[in-house]
Amino acid sequence: MNTLCKLKKNKLATDFKKIIKIVSKPKFICEKCARVAKDKKYLCSPLALKK
Ligand SMILES: [Zn+2]
Repeated sequence: MNTLCKLKKNKLATDFKKIIKIVSKPKFICEKCARVAKDKKYLCSPLALKK
């Protein structure tokens, strides 16, 4: 799976359940795209969220 940053809209529908798990308890935010994820591997420019 690509990063959320590069995710296409048509991919969003097929991977939606997986994406919900990735973003439901985010620990990282992308500095460029403002997307969040539980793992930095899903973001192009990840920055750890403060607890
Ligand atoms: Zn990004």
